[in-house]
Amino acid sequence: MPERDILHPADRLVAAMERIYSYRMTTTSGGNLSIRDEEGTVWITPARIDKGALRREDIVAVRADGTVTGNHKPSSELPFHLGIYGVRPDLRGIVHAHPVALVAFSICGKAPDTRLFPKSHAICGEVGFAGYALPGSRLLGERIAEVFAAGPSCVMLENHGVVVGGEDFQEAFTRFETLEFTAKTLIKAGALGGARILDKKRIALAGARSVPDKSFAPGNASCRERSLRRELCDFVRRGYKQRLLISSEGTFSARLSDKEFLMTPAGADRADLRPADLVLAGPYGTEAGKAASRALPLHEALYLRHPSVQAIVMATPVNATAFAVSNEILDTRTIPESYIFLRDVGTIPFEAVYGDPSAFADLARPDFPVSLLENDGVMVLGKSLLDAFDRLEVLESTAEAVINSRPLGPVHPMGAEVIDELVREFLTK
Ligand SMILES: [Zn+2]
Repeated sequence: MPERDILHPADRLVAAMERIYSYRMTTTSGGNLSIRDEEGTVWITPARIDKGALRREDIVAVRADGTVTGNHKPSSELPFHLGIYGVRPDLRGIVHAHPVALVAFSICGKAPDTRLFPKSHAICGEVGFAGYALPGSRLLGERIAEVFAAGPSCVMLENHGVVVGGEDFQEAFTRFETLEFTAKTLIKAGALGGARILDKKRIALAGARSVPDKSFAPGNASCRERSLRRELCDFVRRGYKQRLLISSEGTFSARLSDKEFLMTPAGADRADLRPADLVLAGPYGTEAGKAASRALPLHEALYLRHPSVQAIVMATPVNATAFAVSNEILDTRTIPESYIFLRDVGTIPFEAVYGDPSAFADLARPDFPVSLLENDGVMVLGKSLLDAFDRLEVLESTAEAVINSRPLGPVHPMGAEVIDELVREFLTK
């Protein structure tokens, strides 16, 4: 049963603005958020208040009859928030901001293609585009509402930014963050010769993936399970903070015994994952009452096939993921650290990621622990969680350095003799 939502709308908006601001997804002057509650009251961020220091008392309430209560004026974009709620009774939360990657699309008159990743397409859907009008104007409100009325829940604003709605505020935030991540990846992939967009067949293949519906009620947790749960949550939250994954993407797991492992659940916000949210999985199925991530059969097959693997990380660091959506090979012969930690990085085809799990496990090799997953993200196998996390960080730094080198000229890869020496010194002892 889902937990009762007891967080006050004002507190939720303050927490969300803090998160959006701290991850540089808006500036102090740009962006506004709202929630429509059960009584039809719209709670909205105030006009002209520092977004970096917003407090609960700053949030303004606009009742259904139009009365405004609060210590400030509501955001100047209140008209378009009300316009969207007017045409979309299903929406309860709205995020509007000017995050840089989406602004880049907005100023070119374009919308990001969400068919870049199956998740992005499932979460954001088709993206609408509303023509320019003066900020705060009735015309802007009308233009935006018209696009929302046609169905999309993510709408680009010409020469302005983006507006995203959700059935609750969390859904709006997840869509917003996923869309910005998609835009960032497309831009990075542009430096690598462009991104591969998924066709209908591949989108359908990803949508058909499911987790076997077999559950069990585990007995008391051992101390090892308790500490592993804590450790796994710490790494997931740390990965989120470091932007190695976003709230909707990223599956971490760790081996508990020969046949059992702990794994991140489906749908949960990675930024505040708690030990109790993790799902225990094993030969009897998955822990009752919890939704396992749909990548579970892949992790299970990997643990069974490769006894040395103790942890598996599937994540979406933007630079490495840009390689996973492009045709460019990530050459790790850049600096010794990169080659030692990453070895040679190959790409596992989309059909294998979304196909038979045991065939997928055969493609993975623990001695080459890092793989790109085509149009999906990256995968790192580790001898421990720290080992996998460490390699994930090196992978992202390496990919970022290679992308940043593009305007500087061709990369001089380390030669065969240098690689042989590194293998002798660090990889065969
Ligand atoms: Zn704006």
